[in-house]
Amino acid sequence: MHSLPVLVLNSGSSSIKFAVYEAGDGARTQLLEGTADGIGTDQGQFWIKDAVGKKLTDETPALPTRAEAFALVEQALRGGAFPAVEVPELGAIGHRMVSGGPTVVENQRITPELIDEMEKYTAFAPLHTPIAIYIMREALRLFPGVPNFVCLDSYFHRTIAPMAARMPIPEEYAAMGVRRYGAHGLSYESIVHQLQPRVPERLIVAHLGNGASISAIWRGASVDTSMGLTPTGGLISGTRTGDIDPGVLLFILRKIGEQKTGTAEAANELERVAAKRAGLLGVSGLSNDMRDLRQAIKAGDKEARLAVDQFTWTVKKWIGAFVAELGGVDMLVFTGGIGENDIDSRAEICAGLDALGIVLDAERNKVRGAAVISAEGSPAEVRVIPPAEELMIVNHVVRLMGSEAVGSRQ
Ligand code: AMP
Repeated sequence: MHSLPVLVLNSGSSSIKFAVYEAGDGARTQLLEGTADGIGTDQGQFWIKDAVGKKLTDETPALPTRAEAFALVEQALRGGAFPAVEVPELGAIGHRMVSGGPTVVENQRITPELIDEMEKYTAFAPLHTPIAIYIMREALRLFPGVPNFVCLDSYFHRTIAPMAARMPIPEEYAAMGVRRYGAHGLSYESIVHQLQPRVPERLIVAHLGNGASISAIWRGASVDTSMGLTPTGGLISGTRTGDIDPGVLLFILRKIGEQKTGTAEAANELERVAAKRAGLLGVSGLSNDMRDLRQAIKAGDKEARLAVDQFTWTVKKWIGAFVAELGGVDMLVFTGGIGENDIDSRAEICAGLDALGIVLDAERNKVRGAAVISAEGSPAEVRVIPPAEELMIVNHVVRLMGSEAVGSRQ
């Protein structure tokens, strides 16, 4: 195959990340990457870096809505407005999407009909889906003729057991598509990809970033994962409750209801509480950022200590649950900003897990960038592996372009 310039678009609730790769014959080269961050504020951030990490532009524009943010991205990709930025003619675009809902399970070519279908399930991820849908429509409009593909985080978890997928709720709601979809699928997939051809049979991967989740993987396929219908479930994370007694949410909802009249308004406020103001931020009352919390702990802050202890305790409990589910563990992988960088979190999570076959080597754990951090003779290997989500998207796009080409020759 000759080389294919692929644009990767990855939007969050307040940011749009983009990167251009040159993909050809197994090689993947990043040509540039950039981010428009702080959507909804009058001082956002917009930067672009070249292949060696040199900043080509770095600005603080007002980004009142996603439209201004995506307009900047589009201008950058067209080159004119940012002369330093050279972008080859795009061959394909890959969009990251958290979940496709119950009907869109496979990664595939985006059509207007497919977007309409995914939009039906916006209520499942109101913080993530609307911006992703907007960007897909804009990309189809602005880059006519360039094939667009959706790459789902939920794709990797399509193999989870029905027992893990079904929520214990009445059938009428399950029939509306309410189930466990999981998230961070592209990250998990990329870890499995990086472990090939020696993927251990019983693998647990902890993706610990500002959003945190953990997955049980059997022979390379997801069998269970901590996030549920939305990324708010599962582990405690930066600003999210994780799994919680539903009675707590009902209590908060009723409290909110005393101030707000409309159901939708109250539900939106509850979502803000559970997904944006809870977790490490809620308990510490200080920050959702692990670096801030570690500093505060050094200064003797008790709430920061409690928040971090709660975080590592939940991760430990899920590891125990997944060891039980997998019948043992051959490898534990840490990934995500905290998983890759926070030595203390890794040590605290693994402390006392010897009985499960997980024995960390304290010295190896301290070496920055160390791949293997388990002790010699630890029954399970413990590794640190950075995720490569964008590369996974490029791989999916290349595969799907290939199958389209084959399809068109038939
Ligand atoms: P992510 O969402 O994967 O970018 O991860 C963000 C989280 O990783 C934040 O809580 C950061 O504080 C944390 N993090 C990043 N670098 C470090 C570091 N060197 N030490 C501790 N935590 C870190």
